[in-house]
Order: sequence, then structure tokens, then C-alpha cells
Amino acid sequence: MTGNGRVLVVEDEPDTQSLIALVLEGLGLDVTATDSGVEALELAATLDPDLVTLDLNLPDLDGTEVCRRLRAERRAQVLMITARDGDIDDLVDERVGAHDYLSKPVSVKELRARATALQARLVVPSDAPARAGDAPLDLGSGLVVRAAEQQVVLGEQTVPLTPIEVEVLATLARRKGEPCSRQELAASVWAGEFVESDYLVDVAVGGIRTKLRRAGSRARWIDAVDGTSYVLRPAV
Ligand code: CA
Repeated sequence: MTGNGRVLVVEDEPDTQSLIALVLEGLGLDVTATDSGVEALELAATLDPDLVTLDLNLPDLDGTEVCRRLRAERRAQVLMITARDGDIDDLVDERVGAHDYLSKPVSVKELRARATALQARLVVPSDAPARAGDAPLDLGSGLVVRAAEQQVVLGEQTVPLTPIEVEVLATLARRKGEPCSRQELAASVWAGEFVESDYLVDVAVGGIRTKLRRAGSRARWIDAVDGTSYVLRPAV
């Protein structure tokens, strides 16, 4: 039986594996767990999971290598889980290809938020007709948001934003210069399910700014307004 989707939990710490499995089962997902990277690739081949949570430090195979192979061979969304904060930018770049990441120790709230956001992307068939809101958003200065493809490009290069960061940026862009409150942004990404998601919105905005700057943009793009909202500022 499949509930809301199949998830493969790859984690060699028993307590963390149990926690992740419990949280994801609570979201109605069918959970299979393993402590091995090699076994994870074998299981992925037979299970065809919708979502994989992947520990970076595994005893047999590096999590980045598991992620590369999954992304090359599978359609699964990959949520990388890491204790090594310094690696986060590398994890979501094109070489490794994780869709999103979570730092250890794993917060139940953040895990639910990220899994729900990734899960929401799974229920849209890939051949679904584009919605009006899915048209590419040209923000000027070479920055284009293609929400339907979960892609943001600056000039010729793809900016390695997470799915949540893409959704936050797209939501701000659709407001056409009007401020958008944290609650509205959270509702657009997490369907209003997470009442204490202000912090996650702030993290996403910080990630967007940092990655656009690293991609060579000199514009600030997103301003805070009154301590409650964000607004997309046209490039100058
Ligand atoms: Ca580990």
C-alpha cells in the first residue's frame, strides 16, 4: 500500500533513524529505513521512493556519492541531513544535487516542514499543464524564476536554491513590489500548517540573498519591512 508516498530513510544512527521514520510516518508516508549507503541504492532501485532522507556521514559510502547516484538514476527528491554545516552549500549545488538539507540535531518541526514542502512537489504530475502562476518571472538584471521547474537563473548560470527558497522568491516576485508577511510566505510554502515557521522564512530569505550574491549579483533583492514582512526590490 502506498499512502502519501514512499520514503527511504538512510541513517546509521539508530535514534536519529527512528526519529526521522516516526515523523515521516506521521505525515502518512510509507517508510523504509537503512543504515547503509550501498543498501540505500539497492532499495531505491526496487522501491522507487518519492523522497529520500540521506545522512551525509554513512559508514560504507559517502552521502554525497549516494546522492549523486540517486539523482542520476532516480526521480526521488533528496533531503540531505548533515552535522557538517560547512558543507551545506556544496550539498545543494549541481555536483551533488540534493533538493534540500537539514542540519543535525534534527528538529521535528523543520523535518516536517521540509518533508511536507518536498512532498507537495511530488503530487503534481510532471505532465500537468502549467498554471498561470507558473510562467517564468523575469525580475530584471538577468534574474529569472521558473517556479514550475524549481529553477532560478542569473544570466547564464543556475542559482542553486532549495525548493523552499525558490518558492519564497517566486511568491515575493508575484507580489510585484508589495510587501509579503512572513505568515503569507510560510503559507505559500507550507500551506499554513506550521505556525512557528517565521524562523524558516528568515533562513530561506538569508539563503536566497547569499546564493544570489555568490552567483555574482550585486543587488540585495529582498528587503525586510517593519520587522514583519519582506519585499522584493527591483534590481538597480
Ligand atoms: Ca551518520
